[in-house]
Amino acid sequence: MKVKFLGTGTSTGVPEIGCKCPVCTSNDIKDRRLRVSVLINTGDVRLLLDCGPDFREQIINEEFAPIDGVLLTHEHYDHVGGLDDLRPFCRFSDVDIYTNSITADALRTRIPYSFIEHKYPGVPLFRLHEVNSNSTFRIKGVEIQPIDIMHYMLPIFGYRIGSFAYLTDVKSIPDSEYQKLRNLDVLVINALHMSEHLSHLNVAQALEEVRKIAPRRTYFIHMSHRMGLHADVEKTLPPNVFLSYDGLEIEV
Ligand SMILES: [Zn+2]
Ligand SMILES: [Zn+2]
Repeated sequence: MKVKFLGTGTSTGVPEIGCKCPVCTSNDIKDRRLRVSVLINTGDVRLLLDCGPDFREQIINEEFAPIDGVLLTHEHYDHVGGLDDLRPFCRFSDVDIYTNSITADALRTRIPYSFIEHKYPGVPLFRLHEVNSNSTFRIKGVEIQPIDIMHYMLPIFGYRIGSFAYLTDVKSIPDSEYQKLRNLDVLVINALHMSEHLSHLNVAQALEEVRKIAPRRTYFIHMSHRMGLHADVEKTLPPNVFLSYDGLEIEV
């Protein structure tokens, strides 16, 4: 299975509009972060995790081929703002979206034109699947386990596919969900920056989750400009814990 990080930044992206801090003005391309999303290729199945407002820019240099499923973690703009740009993929077939019921309800309000009975010609066509964290589901034979996690007060989903898990916008993980995270080769988890935040893990808290989950390798995502320079911060992390960057590809 191949995992490509299409975006690794927090909701504002990095650089932040109008900011002149050392990270936002860095010449290191690893300090430029689009909104979070990963693309997974496993066999001939292609899955997109989250579809934020940078989706068009993220997908335009990838092969134009069907996306077999879009897995959404939650309804916040930085995770769903690019759904309308899935329109070209409707040439292959309606696009299958998988998410929890809260997010599905939000999408029906947010992009009603894709879900009403009499649609304007040319709108993106979706099949919206509400999935449940109590069981796995399959997309073309690939088994996927939703994981309940908390984004402050909002219940959202992480996803496990094989020995890979993608958890973003976590502030806390219910005790019952750790059993779904055993024996991971790769954990992708959010780490916003060093200081405390209401709805996101900071670096120290993310490292505490890494210690509890004990994956073989961990990649941090959803980073803000206040994280510091990629090159400086990565040196401070334990072995087998890395900052991701846009364009990074890994094999799982
Ligand atoms: Zn987010
Ligand atoms: Zn900045």
